[in-house]
Amino acid sequence: MSAPEIQRHNELFEKAFSKTNLCIQCGYCLPACPTYQSMGTETASPRGRINLVKMAAEGKIDVTKDMAGPIDLCLGCRACEIACPVNVPYGQILEAAKEIIQKEKPKKTKDHFVHLLLTKGFTNPKFLNLIGDATWLYQKSGLNKLVQKTNAINLVAKPLGFFEKILPPVQKPSKRTKRGEWYKTERECKGKVAFFVGCVTDAMMHETNNNTIKLLNTVGLDVFIPEKQKCCGALHAHQGLLSETKELAKENLDVFKTSGIDYIVNSAGGCGAMLHEYRELLHDEPEWQQKAEAFSKKSVDVSVLLVKYGPLPFKREWNGIITYQPSCHLSNVQGVTEEPRQLLRSIPGANFIEMKDSDSCCASGGIYNLIHYEESSKILASKMENVKNTEATTVVTSNPGCLLQMKHGADKFAKDYKIETSHLVDLLVKLID
Ligand code: SF4
Ligand code: SF4
Repeated sequence: MSAPEIQRHNELFEKAFSKTNLCIQCGYCLPACPTYQSMGTETASPRGRINLVKMAAEGKIDVTKDMAGPIDLCLGCRACEIACPVNVPYGQILEAAKEIIQKEKPKKTKDHFVHLLLTKGFTNPKFLNLIGDATWLYQKSGLNKLVQKTNAINLVAKPLGFFEKILPPVQKPSKRTKRGEWYKTERECKGKVAFFVGCVTDAMMHETNNNTIKLLNTVGLDVFIPEKQKCCGALHAHQGLLSETKELAKENLDVFKTSGIDYIVNSAGGCGAMLHEYRELLHDEPEWQQKAEAFSKKSVDVSVLLVKYGPLPFKREWNGIITYQPSCHLSNVQGVTEEPRQLLRSIPGANFIEMKDSDSCCASGGIYNLIHYEESSKILASKMENVKNTEATTVVTSNPGCLLQMKHGADKFAKDYKIETSHLVDLLVKLID
């Protein structure tokens, strides 16, 4: 073993060994794990992955050859954490493993590209807005129809072809939420919130952001959008780029002033989970610890505030069956399970039906569905079976990534069935207008 390799094993030992030791190997987490369900091997299970990290930390196996593959195939959905009777912090073990893999593995051109995209592209709102503008133009010009007709994009990469088809219509760039501005409620003001707009949502799905503001205003909350907010860092953390994640977190802590603000709100489960975990991310940096604690404490999903300050003044009824695919990061990391369901149940005329295994991951997993398209598809296929069995006409989610995955699922596995997909806030806005 070379000196740098020994150093990596030591680093992993320091970061994760004591946590892996908490696992009593009971296997309670196995039925909750979607990759174990679809792949059926011990190394695709939480228990197996924890074991691999433990052995790598002890220097018994190689980080790249033996540990990286199974870790890479983990969705990061954290369902195992909820199922675990002894509270093994799987997310922290996963994070440590990813960080070490990222440092250890030989860099391929593809990795450099992903690294560049995450560190330079996703941290730059101007770049992302440019992509959003280009997509709007692409759709508006009708070029998308031609591309879909000729299947040209499938020649580049099949997953891209599928996702190009399900990209929702991007609203005009001029409708993008203006940063640095207050959006005031017309009702009696019950509180002030700062809105975390999310980088991809802000660039490509700004209608959802506008709808979030509208709903918050409707329940009596003033909304402010801090101008210099950055990407939350979730995608960076998924790729093991921990120092970049910390830098982004610190910039956001500086930008979002918590005094005078009651909540920091978001409408993307994945981003929300990262914001919720800034306190753990920076727990060993004394000068940031307190700020991070205050920030995470105030960070909240929009559904929580809509329930707290609601009810919403519905003007329309919804005829049909609605089912709900929760975002794993909203349920498993932020612990928000009831509020979105409560809002759906409160819709006049709607028949809310819970699908079987609703809490199991849809296999969107950040960019997992693009990187591991086939594995993701198997999990999505069984999810769509559960959706169909409810006879739902609409499936609702609380995260842009899950929404795209549901659209893809409907397009690929429920063609004969015709099911609509919607982000929770988009559906709610339709009913109060
Ligand atoms: S995070 Fe999800 S996919 Fe990964 S081991 Fe846990 S349950 Fe399985
Ligand atoms: S992670 Fe928890 S549930 Fe899974 S085997 Fe270990 S102790 Fe049991």
